[in-house]
Amino acid sequence: MSVLEPVVELVRGLGQTFRYLFDRPVTYQYPEQKREVRPRFRGRHVLKRYDNGLEKCIGCSLCAAACPADAIFVEASENTDEKRFSPGERYASTYEINMLRCIYCGFCEDACPTEAIVLGDNYELSFTDRRSAIYPKEMLLEPVPTVDMTTPRKVETGVYKRSVPEMKDPTD
Ligand code: SF4
Ligand code: SF4
Repeated sequence: MSVLEPVVELVRGLGQTFRYLFDRPVTYQYPEQKREVRPRFRGRHVLKRYDNGLEKCIGCSLCAAACPADAIFVEASENTDEKRFSPGERYASTYEINMLRCIYCGFCEDACPTEAIVLGDNYELSFTDRRSAIYPKEMLLEPVPTVDMTTPRKVETGVYKRSVPEMKDPTD
């Protein structure tokens, strides 16, 4: 090995450093600065509502049946027009997802006939014990924009008979 060889290697190494010295930094100062997720990212679940505030979930348990990790627990109860949560006969009186079991596969989303359960863009999931990894319906349900849109609520008799809305054919 010649005497100059380490010097050459050192200069080459410094050259590499110099090449990237003025590039834009890729480090995000999390949690102050959050990186935008990709459009198809699958994060924490959200239970969606219709524009009028009624819950999309009808407690059918198809999501629980489709879940390969057995992470979802659903219990359904009867709606009445005096105390209505969702359109149709039934609503989810209990809806829980065990986030420690979930593998974020999105099968629940695909199985849902009303597009009620959606994997959102929230990736901030942390727990200090097993019990708090089970997210109940209150945590998963989308908030309402105004108080009068909350559920349960009294509605006009016989208007919300259909559980699953009419859907158009997909266009893409
Ligand atoms: S994303 Fe997959 S694993 Fe998680 S709750 Fe849905 S179906 Fe189950
Ligand atoms: S989220 Fe969808 S599939 Fe699951 S119980 Fe509710 S309506 Fe049924």
